[in-house]
Amino acid sequence: MRNSRRNFLVGGCALAAFTAVAPLAGSSLTRQQIQGRSLALLHDESQCIGCDACSQACRETNQVPQSVSRLSIRRTGPYGSGDAPFYRFERVSCQHCENAPCVRVCPTGAAYRDPNTGIVAVDEFKCVGCQYCIAACPYQVRYVDPQTKAVDKCDFCQKSRLEKGLQPACVDACPTKALVFGDLNDPHSTLVQRLKVTPTYRDKESLGTRPKVFRVSAKPGEIRL
Ligand code: SF4
Ligand code: SF4
Ligand code: SF4
Repeated sequence: MRNSRRNFLVGGCALAAFTAVAPLAGSSLTRQQIQGRSLALLHDESQCIGCDACSQACRETNQVPQSVSRLSIRRTGPYGSGDAPFYRFERVSCQHCENAPCVRVCPTGAAYRDPNTGIVAVDEFKCVGCQYCIAACPYQVRYVDPQTKAVDKCDFCQKSRLEKGLQPACVDACPTKALVFGDLNDPHSTLVQRLKVTPTYRDKESLGTRPKVFRVSAKPGEIRL
């Protein structure tokens, strides 16, 4: 059943009060510290083994219903020939576009880009379920939550983890360290350091969406069958 606006206000006030008086446990990223950032993700496909630990952690952490998905791994292949065929594992999730079509078409402001983090998010209480954003997203990563009836998608675990000083669940769950999360505005971040020296690409960049999920292409022979 959809939460009421009243419950939201009560919950929001409780969270604000908590963060105002208590340091965030195990925090390297407090709520104040994530402001003024341009948060982004690197998926190193050459390190990805397609284990799905990231998508399972996402589902559990964000209580994503089984019929929908915030994050999945698309497997294609095999590529190559002879005794060294390989598969490609591609991350399918919101790209947190700087120029987001979903935000532009939303008539109520429910789809928005947080200026403090660069995260593209959804305000479920403003969402009227028109699904314009679903049609506009070139990456096909938005869905109607069967429980709330509002549109939802990846938010880099903003509510479930970032505000507690934790990295997105997918990043922590990855056994091969194929995912790197960080701030594009921080020149010393591991993410920026990796982007400086590693050739990357972004999906459908030609559309002008300026996606913030960077990818390292898989190389032939990484996964031998
Ligand atoms: S990937 Fe889709 S849902 Fe995510 S910001 Fe871009 S257009 Fe919006
Ligand atoms: S479904 Fe909700 S978030 Fe999407 S465009 Fe309509 S009101 Fe905005
Ligand atoms: S957890 Fe890491 S290795 Fe496994 S599918 Fe996800 S990104 Fe790839």
